[in-house]
Amino acid sequence: MNLILLGAPGSGKGTLAKRLQEKYSIPQISTGEILRDNIKRETPLGKKVKEIIDRGELVSDEIVIEIIKQRLNESDCKNGYMLDGFPRTVEQAKALEEFAKITLVINLEIDNEKVVERLLGRRLCPICNYSTNTHWENYSDICPKCGATLVKREDDTEESIRERLNVYDKKTAPLIAYYKERNLLKGFNCDDTPENIFNNVVKELN
Ligand code: AMP
Repeated sequence: MNLILLGAPGSGKGTLAKRLQEKYSIPQISTGEILRDNIKRETPLGKKVKEIIDRGELVSDEIVIEIIKQRLNESDCKNGYMLDGFPRTVEQAKALEEFAKITLVINLEIDNEKVVERLLGRRLCPICNYSTNTHWENYSDICPKCGATLVKREDDTEESIRERLNVYDKKTAPLIAYYKERNLLKGFNCDDTPENIFNNVVKELN
């Protein structure tokens, strides 16, 4: 099962991917997480992309295509994978077709204003990447998995969020039509609880 999770920033791709990963034992491959890890380790790639990411712009197609190509060659992808945040342009989707066979594209549908509210409340664990939201019930700023203090992502400022939404509408939203034409797209309304969204997706996958 080779899945693509498509949807605006803040639509819940990462949260859904982590739940699907537990259920189906296939890895979540997030280009954003791979890039942020490079920034944290101050690699040449990390230094090159840090400012682009902070501004909310897209890293070049060439860089992310190469990252995905190498990552899909690793042994844990043999039985399937979930792509979270890739492809983000039609060029990336075309490149992906050359080395991957996609089973289904899960499109998470959400209103832009909801996204701003959600992302301003998003908090992550700097150690294990656990993700939660200050708007959720029983929110605590301590990671329930490893005890670290949760942090805000550096690009979750209102300015960067609005820029990412602009970029999404211009460059990534055309992928909805692209995958619809190929009969690969299934849409889910994401103005719902993570639990309900997960259950709806599982029903479809089964
Ligand atoms: P994400 O964690 O998916 O929200 O990605 C964070 C940031 O990483 C994005 O705002 C982009 O700057 C960059 N990025 C992640 N995936 C891609 C991609 N497929 N193409 C271009 N830039 C990306």
